[in-house]
Amino acid sequence: MKAIVKTQEGSGNVKLTEYEKPVPGRGEVRVAVKSAGVCGTDIKILRGDTWSNPPVVLGHEYSGVVDALGEDADAVKLGDRVISETGQSVCGQCYYCKTGRRLMCPNRLSIGYGVDGAFAEYIVVSQDIVHKIPDSISFDEAALCEPFAVALHGVWDSVSLLPVDTALVTGPGAIGQLAALAAKAKGAAVILAGTPGDGERLEIAARMGIEHTTANLNEGIVRDLTEGRGVDVAIDCTGAESAIRQAIGLVRPAGKFVQIGLTKDALEIDYALLTGREISIVGSFGHQWHNWDHAIRLLAGGKVNVKPLITGHYPIEKWEQAFDDMEKQRGIKILIHP
Ligand SMILES: [Zn+2]
Ligand SMILES: [Zn+2]
Repeated sequence: MKAIVKTQEGSGNVKLTEYEKPVPGRGEVRVAVKSAGVCGTDIKILRGDTWSNPPVVLGHEYSGVVDALGEDADAVKLGDRVISETGQSVCGQCYYCKTGRRLMCPNRLSIGYGVDGAFAEYIVVSQDIVHKIPDSISFDEAALCEPFAVALHGVWDSVSLLPVDTALVTGPGAIGQLAALAAKAKGAAVILAGTPGDGERLEIAARMGIEHTTANLNEGIVRDLTEGRGVDVAIDCTGAESAIRQAIGLVRPAGKFVQIGLTKDALEIDYALLTGREISIVGSFGHQWHNWDHAIRLLAGGKVNVKPLITGHYPIEKWEQAFDDMEKQRGIKILIHP
């Protein structure tokens, strides 16, 4: 089968190649991939900026059709339309596995960098991480359930937003847009902030009903929208030090700050805000089973529309162009169709 493979560590070393078609083992299912989203993580792996386990097929945001079943795999049937979570290989025995926190398992290997992923004609995953999708969700929309689950975990699990709250989201990439939609679905007023280069991305957000977007976030905007108080919750989806410092400074006393965007190891923030203004900082990583269930139900019920976020489609042969679009931040979510 055709697959986009990281062949060895270091910068580059990614190519479209003929790869052995995987065979599902006990409790595993094989999925014929229909749509797979390119993510910032894929670019980091391409550039050698993050760990991967080569040779390994990239891609971790996908949808497809069940094409083969391993022994004892009875959670789904042949022909079912499905998506899957990313924590493919875990120990199953540790505290985190037992409490439904697969991604915290110290032995976890995730699809797309730890084990073979979805930029291929077929992927094999454990039936434990597969979710069926209804016919009302297209394969393209379904491929966005992974970043949507990340956003839902960050926004719905980390803070309890009320319809009277104002949430600031920094970073209008896919996760930021989906975090803004997650906050909006709770009834909160949302400010989505980007930089002057984000014009097109912020326009898409406005089209999806995010009422306040800005390419030049400042205290005045926040003060006007919050009766001078500051936002109840700020959610960073940039991982950038300057954006984080600014966003924390715009949180009202006793408000909350959620970190979703991946940051460098150490950064400088005004830590005295924790006691001086009683601001809580919460970290969020990945997703849990219920976030996927919620993502599917929000899309199936038409409560959230992610279609405007899908800005590009490429056949697998044109993967380099897809990665280039992602790296140069052209559009929001680029899909590869193997
Ligand atoms: Zn991703
Ligand atoms: Zn474990």
